[in-house]
Amino acid sequence: MDFSDTPEEAEFRASVRKWLEANAQRARGTSGRFTGTGTDDIGAAKAWQASKYEAGYAAITVPEVYGGRGGTPIQALIYRQEESAFAVPTGVYEIGLGMCVPTVMMQGSDAHRDRFLVPAYRGDEIWCQLFSEPAGGSDIAALRTRAVRDGDDWVINGQKVWTSGAHFADFGILLARTDPTVAKHKGLTMFIVDMKAPGVDVRPIEQMSGGAEFNEVFFADVRIPDSDRLGAEGDGWNVALGTLMMERMSAGQGFGFFGATEVLELARKTEIGGRPASSDARVRERVADWWINEQGLKLLSYRAQTALSKGELPGPEQSVNKAIEAPQAQEIAYFARQLRGQAGSMDGEEIDEDWVHVDRSWLWAPGMRLGGGTDEVLRNIIAERVLGLPGDVRVDKGVPFNQLTS
Ligand SMILES: Cc1cc2nc3c(=O)[nH]c(=O)nc-3n(C[C@H](O)[C@H](O)[C@H](O)COP(=O)(O)OP(=O)(O)OC[C@H]3O[C@@H](n4cnc5c(N)ncnc54)[C@H](O)[C@@H]3O)c2cc1C
Repeated sequence: MDFSDTPEEAEFRASVRKWLEANAQRARGTSGRFTGTGTDDIGAAKAWQASKYEAGYAAITVPEVYGGRGGTPIQALIYRQEESAFAVPTGVYEIGLGMCVPTVMMQGSDAHRDRFLVPAYRGDEIWCQLFSEPAGGSDIAALRTRAVRDGDDWVINGQKVWTSGAHFADFGILLARTDPTVAKHKGLTMFIVDMKAPGVDVRPIEQMSGGAEFNEVFFADVRIPDSDRLGAEGDGWNVALGTLMMERMSAGQGFGFFGATEVLELARKTEIGGRPASSDARVRERVADWWINEQGLKLLSYRAQTALSKGELPGPEQSVNKAIEAPQAQEIAYFARQLRGQAGSMDGEEIDEDWVHVDRSWLWAPGMRLGGGTDEVLRNIIAERVLGLPGDVRVDKGVPFNQLTS
């Protein structure tokens, strides 16, 4: 496939770039996709999202009737590629607009689409994803939060954990167990939950970065009307798979971490034994390895682009992206800290602005190796679904959830 832009795509890219240059402030070495500090400025994020909405870039593939542009997945990809060069505050919307709102679009009723889509795209309302629990992370289907029918409502009791942005979210998509007498994947149902409803208790978790971006969320007799169910009762697993599939749509986007080019720049400015570190053979070898990996990831993102241009979804091979990029981001950040010698143990802000992004990447990278699928889980996906190797041992397959011992 030819990966250069068609004349129409080139024109779209040029108009996006022009708009971004006029409206976003270009910043050095950071994509603005995450701050790692827990200090996201919600007001600034809302203002940026609103300006994107007004310009028609907030929901590129969404039909105009729901506040979108009615554009193509390739246009959405072009916009993401161009926006990633600017330090714009998009982080607080990533999970909501990337995964939750598309789930509402696909599985919700007309009333849901009318009520929720425009305020979400305009940035007025923020969404979070309430899947993981103490007993169900990689194995989400092991979750224990119960939803029990009571008249026209469901009554929710249980606990979620690692819920990004729950402390500022207005709504969430919640996966809960509605039938414990059937196999674990079969007794789940998805709901829309109002995060301000009585009985919802959000408790931020402090991270080693000093921030608190994710939370524990407790549900004590929280009532959700049956009309806010997403998909059929007992079909929550399939609805959740659709949500998780959305992650692949962001394939090739990168995390906005420190990469090979940035670490090379730092190595040029840093001395080892009186010479630029970039002239040291050990440094050059490491940087070259990372750069080669990045080229491989770029080619993989072209596969995603090809699938999108054909109106298909990127395949499970996109798991390779995060399986390589997240550990590499951690390695690069560690290496960059070592370049500072003994000063590497100091906070980046105490030394030089250049190092702040290194430190943020260093503190964030371990989380990226877990969220959205751990290294091991991604390798299982690659083994089973890309390479066709024998499946993981699943002793609980087909066993009713209430007969599982742990
Ligand atoms: C930054 C961040 C943001 C997050 N945001 C959200 C959010 O918004 N909403 C949400 O619902 N969740 C969120 N999560 C949770 C995330 O999805 C889980 O952390 C992840 O799925 C892993 O689950 P766990 O933490 O329970 O670890 P576990 O599943 O308990 O895993 C523990 C260890 O066992 C390994 N392991 C587990 N199963 C297997 C297996 N079958 N084979 C081999 N090894 C295995 C894992 O790789 C890991 O090393 C977030 C996590 C992070 C780090």
